[in-house]
Amino acid sequence: MSNQSNSRTNRREILALTLGAAALLSLLETPAYAAKVSKASVRYQDSPKGGSECSNCKLFVPPNACKNVAGEISPKGWCALWVKV
Ligand code: SF4
Repeated sequence: MSNQSNSRTNRREILALTLGAAALLSLLETPAYAAKVSKASVRYQDSPKGGSECSNCKLFVPPNACKNVAGEISPKGWCALWVKV
């Protein structure tokens, strides 16, 4: 009985972790209809940070927009939400 109970608990934990990860990913990729955040709130800057810049971020929308940050975005910019392509 103990092994069966542990197995159920482990499956529940795995399911909870999977659902949590899915929820986090959905937050990273905000749908177009959702409100975008301000540049200031994510420390946006018009220059790259190391090798990280908007043009190599998963959230960049060419030629000068972002899925999550409001306003005009430079391909050479960067912010705290940067996600590697
Ligand atoms: S680095 Fe920030 S502003 Fe630039 S595309 Fe990525 S999320 Fe948008």
